[in-house]
This record gives sequence, C-alpha cells and structure tokens, in this order.
Amino acid sequence: MKKLRTVKGMNDILPPESARWHRLERAFRTTMRRHGFGEARPPIVEPTALFVRSIGEATDIVEKEMYTFTDRGEKSLTLRPEGTASCARAYLQHNVQAIEPVTKWFYVGPMYRRERPAKGRYRQFYQAGAELYGDPGPYVDAEMIDMIVSFLRELGVEDVEVMVNSLGSGETRARFREALVAYLEPFADQLSADSQRRLHVNPLRVLDSKAPQDQEIAEGAPNILEYLGDEDREHFDEVRATLTALGTPFVVSPRLVRGLDYYTRTLFEIRGRGGELGAQNALCGGGRYDGMIEELGGKKTPAIGFAMGLERLLLAMPEEEDAGRVDVFVIARSPSLRREVVSVCRDLRASGLSVDADLRGGSLKSQMRRANKNAPLAIIVGEDEVERGVLQIKNLSDSSQHEATRAGAPALIRELLG
Ligand code: ATP
Ligand code: MG
Repeated sequence: MKKLRTVKGMNDILPPESARWHRLERAFRTTMRRHGFGEARPPIVEPTALFVRSIGEATDIVEKEMYTFTDRGEKSLTLRPEGTASCARAYLQHNVQAIEPVTKWFYVGPMYRRERPAKGRYRQFYQAGAELYGDPGPYVDAEMIDMIVSFLRELGVEDVEVMVNSLGSGETRARFREALVAYLEPFADQLSADSQRRLHVNPLRVLDSKAPQDQEIAEGAPNILEYLGDEDREHFDEVRATLTALGTPFVVSPRLVRGLDYYTRTLFEIRGRGGELGAQNALCGGGRYDGMIEELGGKKTPAIGFAMGLERLLLAMPEEEDAGRVDVFVIARSPSLRREVVSVCRDLRASGLSVDADLRGGSLKSQMRRANKNAPLAIIVGEDEVERGVLQIKNLSDSSQHEATRAGAPALIRELLG
C-alpha cells in the first residue's frame, strides 16, 4: 500500500517542536494584550471573491497561489492565503465601525499558498498579525512598527533590518504610476513575462518582482518619495520622526512596494539577517490600506496591519535550552506502589505543577531513565515515605535530595524549579 504522507509543502508540528511554537504564540499574545489588541478568529475558508477583490487580480497570490475549490458544485471557496481580507470582511459584516471608533484586532493561524516549497516557504504556513481600523496615523503607524521590533527583540531576534516607505495616496499614486509606466515601457521586452503582463494592469508590482532582470530594471525607476503630496509627506515625516524619537532603527526604502491599489502611505517590511533564514528572510510585512474597507463596500475607514511568518521567526530565533517536558517525574520504588504514585501525581497537578510518571510497572532504573529525559526533578515513592507521609524530591541536575510533607511538597518543588 502506498504510504500516506502530508501534502507537499505542509508540515506536521509535533512535540517537542510544538513547545517552541507555544512559547512563540504565547509571547505574541502577551505583546498584543499589552497593546490593547483583541483576538479575531475568522474561518479558514472564505468566498473566493473576498480575496480576489481585496488582494487584487494581478498579484502572485490571486493569479497562481490560491487553493480554490468548488463546494459541491455550488460556490467557489478558497483556503485563506492571508488574514487581512478575512478581518476586513468580519469588520464589515459585524458593522464594527458603528460600535467603536478605533478597533484593534490580532490573529494567529495557518495560511495557504500554493508556492514552490523551500526552507521558510511552505504551502501551509502560520502567520501572526494584527489590524488597526479607524486611526489614520501617523502615530499608530510608528507604534506598530516599534511594537514588532520590540517583540522580535524579546524573542532574541535582534539582527533585523526595518525598511519603511510611503506609497502616498490618491493623486501621488496616479502621478507616480504614470511616471513608472513611462520609465518601464522602453524596457518592456526585457521584463519577465509576469511583469510584462502587469506593466499596464499593476505597474507597482514590477518593482516588487523577484525576477533578477526585473530587479535590475527597477534599480533605475523613479523614486515614489519624490511624488508625495504635501499631506502624504507630512504623514511620512511624522512616522519617521516618531520612530526616531522611540529609538527604533529603520531605513527608508523607496522601492519597497505592494502592488495593490488600496495600499496607501506607510509601508514596511522587516528582514532577518541572522539565524538559519537563508533566502526567505522577510519576517514581517505590513502597511496602511486606507482604501480597502471602502473598496469592500464599507464606509471609508483608515486601517493599518502587519503579518509575520511564524516558521521564519522560529528559524531566526536562537536555540533555547529544553526545559523538560514536565516539572516533576514521579517514580514507584516497586510496582505495588503505583496506586500511590497516581495519587501523588494527582495532588501535585492540582497545585498547578506539570507531572508525569511511568505507570507500566518497569524497574527503578528504567523509570529513572525516563525521569532524566523528561523532567528536572524526580520523586521516588517508597514504602518508608508513604508511612511517614513525606515525599523525597531529587534534583536530577545536581543529585541533591530534599524532603517535604505531602502538603509542603508543591512549595518546595517550586523553589527547586527556581
Ligand atoms: P515573500 O516575499 O517571502 O514571498 P510575501 O510578500 O508573500 O513574502 P506577505 O504576504 O507579506 O509575504 O506575508 C507576511 C509574512 O508571511 C512574510 O514576511 C513571511 O514571513 C510569511 N510568509 C509569506 N509567505 C510564506 C510562505 N509561503 N511560507 C512561510 N512563510 C510565509
Ligand atoms: Mg510571497
């Protein structure tokens, strides 16, 4: 029989690796709570039209990366390739703008894109991201970038490059687009096939292309920052001044773009330079999209958001010491004491400790081996201890022995765990 395996580009995340994921997600949730963001959990499947309209037709995602299927011959559905569209849909569907003037949501979960798999590039991958609706910036823009950089620093990911740009809005975009097309047209036949197609549909995408020939041509393209109108310029100046005041390092990158029409003003990307990232070094992408909510049929609402790839963050994070699967491993000196062991475990767990035991009735030696693998502390339950109502706690790293009453054990264990 043919072996059953995961779909190409999709990964199992299993213990002990999943513990790192938990730590990362917990740290993200803590950061978001500190900043007053609440969690949004939209479905993983949405009507295809949502992504086509919000991400845009002439994008890699919509053109070739979506997992789209027909639901029982009726409706076209798509596994979400990103989180911003679903949040915008939910924001509109539940008329959130009528409830509060400013909305701050975050999300964590799997995304699906049919890309060519590589290290740091998968077909199911996880993003942690956030959206902030109702504040036109520039202060929330700077605050969001600073929040992400601080979060990365807390994870030990310090060697990053923060790139910021402004795409302006309305008129800026129209004038820049014209200048860009005029610049690109003479090179049209040297561009990649994708870029040739996009030249007139979505010329900003050409600047974003990963094809080397496109990148070379993009080098000489007009600088969008020179096209900013007065208000756009003031906005961008204030984002930069606020970041500077916060001491958040960044570089201005005029060629950083997102080729969607509704992207406006502030745009940013954070790249990692260390760790095991390799070519897939974009850790986080984000930007302002003051036009999207209106585009999807709502009232004009300014918004800004970002998304980070969790697999890439884990590659960029320093290795951490394995703290063990549980706090304490409880051992029976003889198989007849297993009932007692179960009871000791139950009481310790009730006090909030994580506790495990090997209840198969094996030798002391084999139980010790499992204890050493799984916990920093061991408790050996023998007839003598049961009679005296005490527990012997062994610190497995320095072999020191400590005794406590059953009631006093949790406090002593906590002290030993540090
Ligand atoms: P890239 O340029 O690497 O393709 P992107 O511009 O498509 O990235 P975004 O859509 O901005 O990425 O998504 C935000 C983040 O999600 C990226 O910075 C990256 O960390 C992560 N990401 C995107 N696509 C993948 C993928 N296929 N596998 C793993 N992580 C991904
Ligand atoms: Mg991509």
